[in-house]
Order: sequence, then C-alpha cells, then structure tokens
Amino acid sequence: MNNNGFSHIERVQSVCPQCLEKIPADIIVKDEKVFISKACSQHGEYLILIEEDAGYYLSRNNYDKPPTESKIQTKVDKGCPFDCGLCPAHKQHTCIALIEVTKKCNLNCPVCYASAGEGDHLDMATIDKMMDFYQEAENGKAEIVQLSGGEPTLHPQIVEIIKLARKKKFKYVMLNTNGLRIADDIEFVKQLSEFIGGFEVYFQFDGFERTTQSFFRGKDVLDKKLKAISNMVEHKIPVTIVSTVERGVNDDQLGKIVQFALDTPFVRGVNFQPVTYFGRGGLGDMRSRVTITDILGRIEKQTASTIRKSDFIPLPCNVDKIAVNYMYRDKHGFTPVARNIKIKNFLPSIKNSLAFDVEDILKQTADGLYDGGFCGCLSFLKDFIAINKISCDLKDKDKRIDYVNQNTFRITVTCFMDAYNFDCKSVKKECVHVITPDLKRIPFSTYNMFYREQYAKEPADSAK
Ligand code: SF4
Ligand code: SF4
Ligand SMILES: [Zn+2]
Repeated sequence: MNNNGFSHIERVQSVCPQCLEKIPADIIVKDEKVFISKACSQHGEYLILIEEDAGYYLSRNNYDKPPTESKIQTKVDKGCPFDCGLCPAHKQHTCIALIEVTKKCNLNCPVCYASAGEGDHLDMATIDKMMDFYQEAENGKAEIVQLSGGEPTLHPQIVEIIKLARKKKFKYVMLNTNGLRIADDIEFVKQLSEFIGGFEVYFQFDGFERTTQSFFRGKDVLDKKLKAISNMVEHKIPVTIVSTVERGVNDDQLGKIVQFALDTPFVRGVNFQPVTYFGRGGLGDMRSRVTITDILGRIEKQTASTIRKSDFIPLPCNVDKIAVNYMYRDKHGFTPVARNIKIKNFLPSIKNSLAFDVEDILKQTADGLYDGGFCGCLSFLKDFIAINKISCDLKDKDKRIDYVNQNTFRITVTCFMDAYNFDCKSVKKECVHVITPDLKRIPFSTYNMFYREQYAKEPADSAK
C-alpha cells in the first residue's frame, strides 16, 4: 500500500475518454473499492470506480473457465481494441450475437447507446447472410441470437426474421424490445406466441416510478410497459426484464423489480445493466458510478436478504463483467442454486455459455451424481434430481417448456464498458457481440465506443 492508501493490483491498457487514444492504466484498491486510474498527456487524469467490493473483484478468477474456440475474422494489426473482430487476440466465443435489424425507433431515449431514431431497416438477404455467418463462425453451434435495433418490432418483416432465425437452428432467439408494439398490437403478440420454446422477449423495463421512465426513455411510458407485460403473460410468452440502472434514478427499485419479476408468471429473469456512457448517454460522477457489486448489495438490502449477494457467482465465460444467480422453484418458492451447491465443483461440466440455464445445470448436476462426481450435499441434490426428473420425464414438448418457464429463474448483472471504465484485458473476454452487415463480430462495448459511427454512415446493405 502506498502513502495515499492505495494498493496497486495490476497495470492494464485503457483509452482516454476524450481522444480515445490508447493509454496505460492502473487498477488500484482503496477502502475496499476498486478503481481504474489513468492519465492522458492531452486530457488529464481520470479516477473511475469499477467495483464496490474488492473481495468479489479479486476472487472472480476462481470461476474463470478457459475460452471456447471459434473462428476469427480479422488480423492483429493496430492492437486491441482497434482490430475487431473477432481478431486472434480475443479470448471468448460469441455467447449472444446481436443483429440490429433496424435503425428506426419509436422512442428517443436520452440514454440510447445506438442513438436510434430515424434510419433504415436491414433487408432480408443481408440478415440471412449475417445469421449464416454467425453459425459458421461458431462452427454450426451458435446459441443465442438477439434481434435488436433501433426497435426491431418496427421492421416490417420482423415475424419472418424470427422464423428465419428458427430455421437457422439457434438454440434461443431473443427479441430485444421496448415493448410499445407489444402493448398496442395484440395480433403481433399472438404471432410471437407461436414461437414459444427457444424464444424469449428481452424486455426493456427500468422501474415503477414515472420519473424513472422519463429519465431513461424521454417520456412516461409506464402504462405501456405494464400493458406489454400483461399481454405477454396472457399469451404465455417467456420474458426477461432488462433494467438499466443509474445512481439516484432507479437504484432504489431493484428489489421491487426482482419481486415483481418473481411474482409474474412467464417472467424468466431480470438482467440489470449499469448505465454506460456512450451514444446519447450523459455523464455521471465517475467516482461513484454503478457497478456490479453495488447492484448485488442493493438487491440484498432491498429484498430483505431473501436474495443475497453471495447467491451470485461470476459467469464462467466472462467473470469480469457478468454476475449471475440461477434459481429453481421448490416448496419454499424460488431458491438460488448457489446457496446449496458449490458451483465451482461443477465448473468443468458447465458450458461457456450464457445459455447455461438452470435446466442445463440441473441436468448436468444429476449426471455428475450418477457418475459419482458430486459434492456431497445429499439432501439438496435430492431436490435437484426431483426437479430434473420431472423436467426430463415430461415428454410432451409444450409441457416441458411450460415447466421450465415456470420453475426456473435467473438474475444477471451485465456490465458493458465505455471509454471511462474500459480495459483491454476484460474486453477480450466479452461474449456479447454485434454482427455487422459486412460480416464481422465486434464485442458490444468496443462496437459502441469505436465502430458504431462508421456503420451508421454505411448503407444498410453494405454486405453486398
Ligand atoms: S476487443 Fe477482441 S476482437 Fe476487438 S481488437 Fe480486442 S481482442 Fe481483438
Ligand atoms: S434505447 Fe432502445 S428504445 Fe430507446 S431509443 Fe434506443 S433503441 Fe429505441
Ligand atoms: Zn486524451
């Protein structure tokens, strides 16, 4: 520890938030908090909070798994982050691929990373090529495709696009939407319900205060959001609630959002995302910006410890930036998997994938038991096997899907990076990638920092 009370953890490569030049940075700990400290010769010094809890930060690597191989598209030339991608230096395959099917949007959110509004739709031939490219890059095993935008439901062929994604055999298709069309167009909701099973709506919902809606979305859309949820519930469409979290705006509503999600049938989980400062996003206080462990602590407090910080583990495929709590329903309600099992013992059998959902864990855990390779928490494993058995015994596909949708739940916290908290080491493990029309895979964070503008200028059919 030096005289200022800082402990130095490591040196990384970052960028200057103003000129985006690559500069070295130090990861330091003070008062149990982790900061990134850097200086640009032109634009001065920066001290930015990256984690509230140094203990969590320092132990994350215990969960780290070796990366999954996938194909590369670019060469190492200018160095990370200017060679995306994926270039040979990237250390994780694609867990989720985003295809931004339109630049149009029916909202004008002040925090929009895509700065969406007016713009073109992608044509079907280009989308088809992008999906094939994703499958090929993942050696035919691509798991999750997320249809995004802009607002993807404004694409006149969105239903055909979902059908196309199903035809291309992705394990999950997600529709990343603000929900306005789902609130207003019940025929569309019925069409979506045809896709149940490997289909999920990734639904933007930031909280229950009207002021929260106005802050994030530019106007009060609370009633529309609630209507959208009730339309999806009515049609049994699985939903993940996605909430952007900003300090002093909705960080007091996290427990309420979790409870609402747990209480609402067919809501399969919540994903919290600390606000990132790119696109139209404004700038908060960098010494107190929202972090993963800040969110975990608030969830514990705001649920009166029903859900604890210790129920979350770093996601094995990207331990730096994603924390996850998988839950299953037992006679007490939803129970976090990590509360009763040392997940670390099962790491070798867990895939490097965001799709490693509870169903997969249950199945693999039971398989581990049958092989004699289990951790010894017998009474607990009986629960697992009971669930697993029911889930596997249901031969009827619809019943099985319904079972999983109603009995499993996940809370994830996903932290993307902006030019303030960016570091090359963490971005190399980012597993959420944007597929571009000219057939590249670009990590979501670097795409928004360095590449989006370039693609905004190009015509939608630039793949041709
Ligand atoms: S972020 Fe990944 S793909 Fe992009 S330059 Fe760095 S290592 Fe390569
Ligand atoms: S954040 Fe989403 S809903 Fe809001 S303007 Fe951007 S694309 Fe549209
Ligand atoms: Zn600079």
